Amino acid sequence: MDYTILVNKENLLPQDYEPEELVEIHEPMGCKLDKAYVNRLNKEAYTAFKEMQSAALKEGYEIFIDSSYRTYDYQEKIFNDIVRRKGMAHALKFVAPAGGSEHQTGLAIDIIFRRNGEMIEDQKEEDPEIQWLFANAYKYGYILRFPKGKESITGVGFEPWHFRYIGKALSEKLFASDLTLEEYYLS
Ligand SMILES: [Zn+2]
Repeated sequence: MDYTILVNKENLLPQDYEPEELVEIHEPMGCKLDKAYVNRLNKEAYTAFKEMQSAALKEGYEIFIDSSYRTYDYQEKIFNDIVRRKGMAHALKFVAPAGGSEHQTGLAIDIIFRRNGEMIEDQKEEDPEIQWLFANAYKYGYILRFPKGKESITGVGFEPWHFRYIGKALSEKLFASDLTLEEYYLS
């Protein structure tokens, strides 16, 4: 498995691309858009997430995975739903087209958290859980994939909840140099 794989609107995955070593994950929430959806994630990425989750908990932050692996067809459904609800311009700006979401790699996670017993669904930059992740995710092989100020490079709006597993060697490098995965491939 190539943990550093680049997927975006210009680098689409084929419809039949299936990630290696997906494991079922058990988190308190299913995917926001479909509660019956079974979350799956690459095994190594999940092990790393569990370590990150334990470390966060020691600081008092209860983080969970909201959305992880999505199939090509599922991403297509999400895209079409947004087009119907908010129009094509909005969809193109905020939602990856089928094949263009790194959720299809089984290496991307959307984080949700629980505070005072309540699940928080509108994750914001200033949330302490999110701030902790910004500062620490790289130690577990994850990067904030769509940072603020890099929208024109990633082609995706700032998503403080979306993290991507790329392995520790590269996550440490990108964190230290403040580079996105796109910039790493360009350099
Ligand atoms: Zn995401």
